[in-house]
Amino acid sequence: NLYGDPQRFTSVPPRARMTLKTRAQLAKAEPGKTKLGFAGIGIMGLAMTRNLIKAGYEVYVWNRNPAKCDPLKAEGAKVVSSPKQLAQAADYTFAMLSDPPAALEVATGPDGIVAGLAKGKGYVDVSTVDAETSQAIAAAVRGSGAAFLEAPVSGSKKPAEDGKLIFLTAGDQALFDAVAGPLGAMGKASFFLGEVGAGANMKLVVNMIMGSMMVAFAEGLALAEQSGLKQQDLLDVLGLGAIAAPMFAMKGPSMMAHKYAPAFPLKHQQKDMRLAIQLGDQHAQTLPVASAANAAYLQARGKGLGDEDFSAVLEAIIKAHK
Ligand code: NAP
Repeated sequence: NLYGDPQRFTSVPPRARMTLKTRAQLAKAEPGKTKLGFAGIGIMGLAMTRNLIKAGYEVYVWNRNPAKCDPLKAEGAKVVSSPKQLAQAADYTFAMLSDPPAALEVATGPDGIVAGLAKGKGYVDVSTVDAETSQAIAAAVRGSGAAFLEAPVSGSKKPAEDGKLIFLTAGDQALFDAVAGPLGAMGKASFFLGEVGAGANMKLVVNMIMGSMMVAFAEGLALAEQSGLKQQDLLDVLGLGAIAAPMFAMKGPSMMAHKYAPAFPLKHQQKDMRLAIQLGDQHAQTLPVASAANAAYLQARGKGLGDEDFSAVLEAIIKAHK
């Protein structure tokens, strides 16, 4: 912990010291007082922004396709026309974007977030990206004098709607402290994991496990059917044993019905498998199960299932059996 430890403080290089100075100036976010921004009104961003509005914050929103902001406008949000305007209007700006290129573009592109930031403001990127992308965004944000927090989330559409996400954060701890209120409105727990990159890596490890679990589950459903078992019986057996998982109980019935309304789009799960495998490569860590699962998601994307829920990977598995 760099705070309250003068010994450690003096050994901090000048750049980090500047960051510490910035940290000291951040006001605690409070409803009725603090203006919040949200960029990326997709499946997750819509639900998360609604919870900020419900908590009483003054909220500004921006989305590439502006029509997606319409429901929020009706609920009291103010719509702006660029990420730069969003960061100018808000004290603290959040972003929930598809992937590394989208996160980089919105933060650092022309009329991007960074152009609207200044000392005393903060940027919280809750998108799932790799550590290098997050570090590049952090450097640009800190260069403007503002503070940066990466805060990818564990939890899907329903936890986002219920305000029960889990934030895996890293970066400027003063910003983590300052946005405790908004994080509490959107989530049920927040972890501060250290330097920028730690939150991104934690999220990739979690989603790699989830992605592999889903493919194993899909293979089980397919094999049960092929061998004349009732899939519902499999769900019941799984639900009573040590490998019971809320995900199997939640996704099983819709998978049995071959219904895949997107809560977590398959293309994003495949992106997370790709980024986790890249992380494995960087550390010479073999990931045979994740690599095989990634191949199944790629096959599903090849069949045009990228915008369906990630549980649609079952369709790629079933076809392989026929
Ligand atoms: P989504 O519904 O596909 O939303 C993606 C958002 O990114 C949209 O607002 C989209 O804008 C925007 N976007 C994409 N490319 C862009 C670009 N080049 N410039 C500007 N904006 C761009 O996805 P989601 O499910 O909300 O997921 C968003 C992020 O959360 C992803 O990183 C995902 O991995 C992560 N995540 C998702 C879940 C989940 O269960 N859904 C759970 C945890 C984490 P347009 O509307 O204009 O296309």
